[in-house]
Amino acid sequence: MNNLAWKEEVKEESFINSDLIESLLLTNPTDEDFYRVMEKAKKGERLSLEETTVLLNTEDQDKIDEMFALAKHIKEDVYGNRVVLFAPLYLGNKCTNSCTYCGFNVHNQQMSRKTLSLDELGQEIEALVDEGHKRLIQVYGTHPDYSPEYIRDTVNKTYSIKKGNGEIRRVNINAAPQTIEDFKIIKESEIGTYQIFQETYHEPSYAMVHPKGEKSNFKWRLFGLSRAMKAGIDDVGIGALFGIYKWKFEVLGLMQHVEHLEDNFGVGPHTISFPRLNEASGVNHDDKYLINDMELKRIIAVLRLAVPYTGLILTARENAELRRECMELGVSQIDAGTQIELQGYSTKKNKCQQDLDKEQFKIGDSRDLDDILRELMENGFTPSFCTACYRLGRTGEHFMEFSKPGFIHNFCTPNAILTLAEYLEDYASEETKKVGYDLIGSSVGTSRLTEETKASLKVKLEEIKNSKRDL
Ligand code: SAM
Repeated sequence: MNNLAWKEEVKEESFINSDLIESLLLTNPTDEDFYRVMEKAKKGERLSLEETTVLLNTEDQDKIDEMFALAKHIKEDVYGNRVVLFAPLYLGNKCTNSCTYCGFNVHNQQMSRKTLSLDELGQEIEALVDEGHKRLIQVYGTHPDYSPEYIRDTVNKTYSIKKGNGEIRRVNINAAPQTIEDFKIIKESEIGTYQIFQETYHEPSYAMVHPKGEKSNFKWRLFGLSRAMKAGIDDVGIGALFGIYKWKFEVLGLMQHVEHLEDNFGVGPHTISFPRLNEASGVNHDDKYLINDMELKRIIAVLRLAVPYTGLILTARENAELRRECMELGVSQIDAGTQIELQGYSTKKNKCQQDLDKEQFKIGDSRDLDDILRELMENGFTPSFCTACYRLGRTGEHFMEFSKPGFIHNFCTPNAILTLAEYLEDYASEETKKVGYDLIGSSVGTSRLTEETKASLKVKLEEIKNSKRDL
């Protein structure tokens, strides 16, 4: 491993065109522009930078409501109202970076630091499996402890653990950008998505909030996922941390990143994340660019319309009520039962009492998985733990190819229902089980499934009741 690779100058020219973005942000869309772009979005086509700007610069509330309604329609049409559930798992909070907004930053003496051993990881995984989780995002700081070998070995350890009827079936990663060679080492463990947030696409602001260390190299991070692609990791997630610079700039930065990945690798990101800056140990944020709830909703709706086949992730940084409101605007993945303190799952730490000197930031939604799942179903969503695409090799290019409406309804919806039934049988409270089977009954009866799919689904649901798993 070459620890100093990040110091080398990245030869490629940045694909973020700040001047273009700033000039687009000064434009005033006409009614005609707005409806032209909405017509294109209705067809489920990805929008260009200019078209996305038209939506972003629309300030009329009635039109914003029209965008929200269309985002809701696209979500139902493309995703069939499924919501994928996962848990974040922090492997270590040591860090050599100086991010001014993050509780893990190297200068924060208040933070108590730890890296999980493989045995400690095993205990966390058993606790997560016992809750009913099937999908994780494993989160690593930037530190020599988190070498590519450590990342690979911890992912392998996670996959190796079986308990009762359960196991973790998909491990996504959030970790520092690597060299191509190091990404190849990580890929040996069959990770799902590799996620890196650019934090801000505005280079001068980036330099201000990342004054020192590995993360200070803007282009090293910007091309991180391109190196991952070159290493054969064809499933990547992008994101921006909202609150560092103008939110509309960041949305267009994300769009330029989407374009870059599509143009160079034939496939866009699998997911987009849009975390907002939250309170953290030992940090004071400048509040100039913090965004309000309405702006967050607009970000979600615009992204849903602009990149309809990409997953949108909303985390427990946001509170339960706002998460509820954001769901229908196009969010397709959320975390649940979230613990971000190291060893929090195995020690069954009280989630409502966070100790910020042990955790990265404050979370807003500390409800249990079972409660979140039940509420989603009561609101008409189908919670899913499905990992079928990934396990059948349908990632990256293949995933995009199959992410078309008919496929979703006849492949993804049944799989969501089957993984939900597994959860109901093995882990759900009585109340959740009842709500769940009512939902399954009405989904099988009325959804857009073909008769053949319905028949095979009924057979498999019976098999699950008779203790078969992973169908
Ligand atoms: N070392 C990895 C890297 O370089 O990306 C992991 C970074 S961190 C564990 C994961 C993400 O948390 C960051 O990319 C950032 O977007 C987000 N984050 C950091 N501080 C935050 C805060 N105060 N509030 C909300 N999100 C924050």
